[in-house]
Amino acid sequence: MSLVRYRYRAYPNAEQARALARVFGCARVVYNDCLRLRRDAHAGGEKVSDTEVQRRVVTLAKQTPQRAWLGEVASVALVQACQDARRAYRNWFDSLSGKRKGRKGGAPRFRSRKDNRQSIRLTRNGFALRGNGRVYVAKVGDLRVEWSRPLLSVPSSCTVIREADGRYFVSFVVERESDPLPSRTAEIGVDLGLDRLAVTSDGEIVDNPRHLRGAQRRLASGQRALARKQKGSANRHKAVRRVAVRHRKVRETRLDAHHKLALRLVRDNQAVHLESLSVAGLARTKLARSIHDVGWSILVRLIEEKAAHYGRSVVKVGRGFPSSQLCSACGHRDGPKPLGVRLWTCRVCGAEHDRDLNAARNVLAEGARIAAGLAEIENACGAGVRPGLVPASGDEAGTRLGALG
Ligand SMILES: [Zn+2]
Repeated sequence: MSLVRYRYRAYPNAEQARALARVFGCARVVYNDCLRLRRDAHAGGEKVSDTEVQRRVVTLAKQTPQRAWLGEVASVALVQACQDARRAYRNWFDSLSGKRKGRKGGAPRFRSRKDNRQSIRLTRNGFALRGNGRVYVAKVGDLRVEWSRPLLSVPSSCTVIREADGRYFVSFVVERESDPLPSRTAEIGVDLGLDRLAVTSDGEIVDNPRHLRGAQRRLASGQRALARKQKGSANRHKAVRRVAVRHRKVRETRLDAHHKLALRLVRDNQAVHLESLSVAGLARTKLARSIHDVGWSILVRLIEEKAAHYGRSVVKVGRGFPSSQLCSACGHRDGPKPLGVRLWTCRVCGAEHDRDLNAARNVLAEGARIAAGLAEIENACGAGVRPGLVPASGDEAGTRLGALG
């Protein structure tokens, strides 16, 4: 059993769209009030419980003239906004104290009226599936939804999203029965790359979808056109929308390529071995654009989700593992190589290596050792990353996933 997120296009009528805009706005205000309250409490050395935060920013706030309008929308959306804020704050805190891996993030960002993507989260008492195929959203009404595929189970929560390009979606987290495929003996190591999407230990090279580059250029030109438009003008509004549509196309093309690759790797192999990549760290360098293009973290998540569904395993090799330094033929450690070095010859055994293929083979060997309990689970960077078997499950991390599925 795994959790997956399904999303469907929704078509609110004009009145419902206005009601949704109001909830989005209220949820945003509550979210920001929560962050502000927690920040101030922390600065003042005051301890406030989660219930107390919610009482102050929702229950008590409704009784003040400045926030009375919060009473006009479903409180379930406001309660969820409190929880989102709580999680954002906790994550930040944990990253500061080192409890959470990855780079130290900045303080949670306040949500802005100008954010292009808006969403609210609802639990059972805030939405309902109608017999006529509509989705009831509290104090908004029955939304018309295009059921592009059947919903597998009764969802426990629902997220309503308005994308930057003006399209609406409802997204549900549902349980999916796993569907194990007949087992196989093949295992594969994968090296995720920049100029190539992936190279496998079998020697297969998977290129990035070519047209993504062209789309990226069109995106950049759209962005420049946007910058020339007068703020608040109708033309600017149109340009914003055009850029959003292009963004979406790039995202969809990339996601499609990732789905196909993930499915193939998982279907054809009993275990997929990967490197734990520090995407957050890399994305701040000049390679950022390319990394964004490639969207490694999404690909890795898809592989994990599909592996959980089809009864396969994913092994993540530690970040400190020198996959590009070892000779996969004799095991000699040849030392670090600049990114530009694509081919090299082992000084000990004379084997000639394609950098990525060699890395993929090393990842396969190391992953197999980890799975067999033979490899040391330690990390040269000391970053606290524990490699090992990942019994992947759909990550119910909240609204962010909705952006991808
Ligand atoms: Zn060698």
